[in-house]
Amino acid sequence: MVRLRPSLLELQSYVPGRKVPGAVVLASNECPYGLLPGVAARLGELTGGLSRYPDMGARRLLEALAARHGVSTDRVAVGAGSSEVCGQILLTVCTPGAEVVFGWRSFEAYPILTTVAGGVPVRVPLRDHVQDLPAMAAAVTERTRLVFVCNPNNPTSTPIGETALRAFVEELPGHVLVVIDEAYHEYADPAVVPDALALFGDRPNVVVLRTFSKAYALAGLRVGYCVGAPEIIAQVRKTQTPFSVSALAQEAAIAALQSGDEVTRRAALTIGERERVTGELRILGYDVPESQANFLWLPLGQDSAAFAGHCLDHGIIVRAFPGEGVRVTLGLPEENAAFLTQAATWRA
Ligand code: PMP
Repeated sequence: MVRLRPSLLELQSYVPGRKVPGAVVLASNECPYGLLPGVAARLGELTGGLSRYPDMGARRLLEALAARHGVSTDRVAVGAGSSEVCGQILLTVCTPGAEVVFGWRSFEAYPILTTVAGGVPVRVPLRDHVQDLPAMAAAVTERTRLVFVCNPNNPTSTPIGETALRAFVEELPGHVLVVIDEAYHEYADPAVVPDALALFGDRPNVVVLRTFSKAYALAGLRVGYCVGAPEIIAQVRKTQTPFSVSALAQEAAIAALQSGDEVTRRAALTIGERERVTGELRILGYDVPESQANFLWLPLGQDSAAFAGHCLDHGIIVRAFPGEGVRVTLGLPEENAAFLTQAATWRA
């Protein structure tokens, strides 16, 4: 009998959003506006080179990212989505039994990837839907190797402000790596959610995680990256599965970076929808925490699964976290209107 890892036998697999043909999909925080125009054009030109391996070092993509953030290329590592990069960072610091602290609920891959890396997840309950940084700092021990801060937090959409984040990072011992996951950065108000790269760019124990899956509309191609100290980035790169970022993904990401104005324009549309839908839900009597992301959180507790079931019965897929709440991605205006109709029906 092959000896399998006990920690994996108990581990719950990642549960992706459901796919139902023809449904309105408001379940996975994707961009509803489709590929950026420059990306579609570039991908059409590329098919000739696909029988060859991609550039494993992703040199041109790294250069484009480094230029975008005003850093040297040795501070950037890419992977197949920020999920892969997240796993790579964990593999870089986790020794067997190493503790990894994060707020809970937060991005569901954190405990899975921690366990896969041989670490032990330490979940610190949210306070009023917000990551409780003092409690997270108090949960750090000699065995802690890494702390995740998801800003804004998935699935509750709530931010951590600059003062609190700065105090938290400064309080932590230098041997603990702080990963600030900014998957929803483009949707956040800079006056509310600090840009961690600007805030901690030179700190040796902070790594900032970003993705092309949300505002850059490339969830299907899988590109993410992190920015941090060269000593850490060099080790993170070693943990990548060789060639995991495909040639198409690299080219699409480079083309997407050139479409910054369109990304900003689309994010503004989503932010407008966020304000409209939040307002309407509150008028209907829903408790909706202030969102800094491209989704809303409805803390419906025991009603969460039934609410999602009601939406599904009417062709709308939202994401239920049974017993806790429902996460609703902001889609196109007409999709959001369809959702609001069902939210009103449920309430009636
Ligand atoms: N971080 C957060 C907070 C997320 O919500 C997600 C996607 N749901 C990711 C990382 C990973 O995204 P991807 O792997 O597509 O880059």
